[in-house]
Amino acid sequence: MKFIMALDQGTTSSRAIIFDQNGKIVSVAQKELTQIYPNPGWVEHNADEIYTTQAVVAHEALISAKLPAASIAAIGITNQRETTVIWDRATGKPIHNAIVWQCRRTASCCDKLREEGFEPIIKSKTGLKLDAYFSATKVNWLLENIPGAKEKAEKGELLFGTIDTWLIWKLTKGKTHVTDHTNASRTMLYNIHTCEWDSEILAKLWIPKCILPTVVESCGHVADTDIFGGSIPIAGIAGDQQAALFGQACFGPGQAKNTYGTGCFMLMNTGTQPVESRHGLITTMAASYCGQTQYALEGSVFIGGAVIQWLRDELGMISTAAESEKIAKSVTDNNGVYLVPAFVGLGAPHWDAYARGTISGLTRGAGKAHIVRAALESMAYQTLEIVEAMAADAHTPLDALQVDGGASANNFLMQFQADVLGVKTVRPVVTETTALGAAYLAGLAVGYWQSTGDIIANRAVEQEFTPQMDAGTRALLISGWKKAVARAL
Ligand code: ADP
Repeated sequence: MKFIMALDQGTTSSRAIIFDQNGKIVSVAQKELTQIYPNPGWVEHNADEIYTTQAVVAHEALISAKLPAASIAAIGITNQRETTVIWDRATGKPIHNAIVWQCRRTASCCDKLREEGFEPIIKSKTGLKLDAYFSATKVNWLLENIPGAKEKAEKGELLFGTIDTWLIWKLTKGKTHVTDHTNASRTMLYNIHTCEWDSEILAKLWIPKCILPTVVESCGHVADTDIFGGSIPIAGIAGDQQAALFGQACFGPGQAKNTYGTGCFMLMNTGTQPVESRHGLITTMAASYCGQTQYALEGSVFIGGAVIQWLRDELGMISTAAESEKIAKSVTDNNGVYLVPAFVGLGAPHWDAYARGTISGLTRGAGKAHIVRAALESMAYQTLEIVEAMAADAHTPLDALQVDGGASANNFLMQFQADVLGVKTVRPVVTETTALGAAYLAGLAVGYWQSTGDIIANRAVEQEFTPQMDAGTRALLISGWKKAVARAL
């Protein structure tokens, strides 16, 4: 019996999950990661801690499943995207903490590039918005601010990587310096049309090409690691959201998944052609396999499940996130109440950093249950706005929305989502879709699974929610939401 191990290196923890041939979980191990906040708005991780926690949980997952390295057919890696590490090629020592995707330290660098008229160039070449989230300006910051880094980089003495690259370099003891298409496409240095590191952007940010990893397919045997007491192929790589898209078996154009976590991340496969967004979305690369590049449109909601945490921790209206379901169902409608959780501005498709949260439509008859219900509904409405933007950009109607993430457990939310979209929502049995996607990529590469057909056959649906709301009610509710958003902007 052989198995596949996924290493899931996330923002708050490192996890390892071992899957069997049916895509079922055999064992899981997890370790929290220290969050470092050196200045307001700055976020760092210790890159050595990222690697050690990841290696430790992989060992623990093997031990708890009582499996030797020889029973692992391949390892797949999925990771927090955009987070940036630069290290010394000779010593393997990072020159600084990793700069995490959330870190805003390079916002002014982005403003400067914008003033210089560089934004359209970035958008057309990389598919991204010019923003501090992506790796490019973080690399520039490290080279500019760490003494001697620029000179060493120019001499080829330093290496850059996103977390996938860093882990593979460590797992192979410095032998392999690679990344995959999905991670490369989040650096804001990669031309997603020509599939090359972009010389014009590199020159603009003073980044020498020699520090960049080789870009490989997401599905492919790239190296072997022997740190687990036997040689195991590393054969799958994908950034977390793209891995989830793959794990949800969204292989064809128009297929989409939405992850309801702290924020919501929605990705729609657009096939082998990139679609440029005119409606505030990002164009990105989906996992590549069998010589095929694949693209996706991505929209993110900053406050998704976090609004439920806010009800619990700040307002004390609920004692657990799960309780929100029962309370929302205790009333028949929202009674005109809308909650727009623009706590940190609004993301796609509005991109308004100055928007702030509102609760509107309050009357004497409004109660706690209406506010709880409005909070859950806000996740569905924000998702609806992204689906509308995707439909307008890609001209492909959605026929179902695959869901995952913590808040997808909420049946009220899933039904309401189906109702406002007019499209069914589909919740799988295995909601660990990120790790599963990485496992599938690795397993396909080594012939553990033969084709995407095997993955589709493995997919088990836990529950489907079909739209039940009449068109009139739906239109009325959506127009109420749009008015509420207009007040928050
Ligand atoms: P992340 O990966 O971003 O940490 P998770 O996928 O673990 O997030 O989901 C956690 C989020 O989901 C929290 O913000 C929490 O409030 C929300 N959540 C969890 N369970 C429920 C539920 N039953 N109903 C509504 N929200 C929930």
